[in-house]
Amino acid sequence: MPKHRDPLNERSLHVEQHERQAAKGERRRKLQSTKKKLQRTGKSKRPRRKDWMPDDLDGWDDAEYTYHERIMPAGERERRRRVERLAFRPAEAEEDERAVETLATADWRGLVVEASAGLYRVDLGDRTLLCRPRGVLKAEELGFTNVVAVGDQVLVREDGAGGGIVEAVLPRRSALVRPDVFYGHLQQVIVANADQVLIVASWREPVIWLELIDRHLIAAERSNLRPIICVNKIDLVDDEAVFQATVQPYRALGYRLILTSARTGAGVKQLRSVLHARTTVLAGLSGVGKSSLLAAVQPGLALRTGAVSARGEGRHTTVQTTLLRLAAGGFVVDTPGIREFGLSDLHRHELAQFFPEIAALAPHCRFKDCAHSDEPECAVRAGVSQGEILTSRYHSYRQIYASLPT
Ligand code: GDP
Ligand code: ZN
Repeated sequence: MPKHRDPLNERSLHVEQHERQAAKGERRRKLQSTKKKLQRTGKSKRPRRKDWMPDDLDGWDDAEYTYHERIMPAGERERRRRVERLAFRPAEAEEDERAVETLATADWRGLVVEASAGLYRVDLGDRTLLCRPRGVLKAEELGFTNVVAVGDQVLVREDGAGGGIVEAVLPRRSALVRPDVFYGHLQQVIVANADQVLIVASWREPVIWLELIDRHLIAAERSNLRPIICVNKIDLVDDEAVFQATVQPYRALGYRLILTSARTGAGVKQLRSVLHARTTVLAGLSGVGKSSLLAAVQPGLALRTGAVSARGEGRHTTVQTTLLRLAAGGFVVDTPGIREFGLSDLHRHELAQFFPEIAALAPHCRFKDCAHSDEPECAVRAGVSQGEILTSRYHSYRQIYASLPT
């Protein structure tokens, strides 16, 4: 449509603009007077976020909260929203105010060690309490189907009937998520606040599956968790040279690698020190020796994933995840949910960045969008034939690439 000047229309535009400005000003005044009112009643103290921080998180930078989940009314964003609600939506605000008051009366701070079917077992230090989440905690708004997850630091109140109510979830520093089975657009938090993933493989029985290791490396990195590769059953190594040539390259790529045998005890001391004082998620096929390794690290420590996942499969999506406390400090997370984690929403063009050796050569390919499959003058394939890139890693790359959406 040709643009022509229409003085009348221009005028009405000005009027509109003016009215918008006036409305904005009115809104600002209203917000400010509400803010003042709140300050007078002492209900909106700015620095209160600190009060909610677990002691060990005090030094944290905001940027470290990858997921910015502020379920509590303590964060700055929440504070603003609250003022806004009080100003414009008093009914909702009243509900918020009540929530804030209940928060102030929360009895305990604890750690969620088990989650199953909407019930959470919260470790309070000297005992555990089975808790329901408070009705007002809404997951959908945050893009998650579950508000509370294993690993969450929570504030709870006793319900007077032997159980408890989760009043608030403290900000998370990491979240291991997977797409929800029923609500694909939503994510389900499997584990909150984990530090690292222990990717367990066995050299034989079952034979080492490098592609799965590579998939877990990507998944861990995408979830901001430090990956540690643990190759178990090294007592079954017959050809030392083949073994070293297969596993050592991961070290060269900068990954932490530990070699263990739950049978002979080799590497167990190292494993123990890696697990110390951290929250570690276990990943790996069944049968690779996860339970045996944990029992070697700490006699009596038992995984339960196998028994639960057998029932958990099928129609019911109940994923029972547990946090096992290590006597020496730290936690191990046992979850059947790990199988599906990590690669959702990853697109083909993003894959190379998770293979440092491929990412290093890719800029030298002739085509900027080279898929490194059969394009001419591909620096990555050249790197494979010259031995700079391991054939097995290139194979993983191709396999994973083919499984990803374009
Ligand atoms: P999980 O399913 O990963 O927990 O594996 P398990 O700990 O149940 O171990 C599976 C099988 O492998 C059991 O029969 C273990 O005895 C055996 N196993 C575990 N670790 C080792 C190991 O280091 N060497 C050998 N040879 N067998 C092992
Ligand atoms: Zn290429």
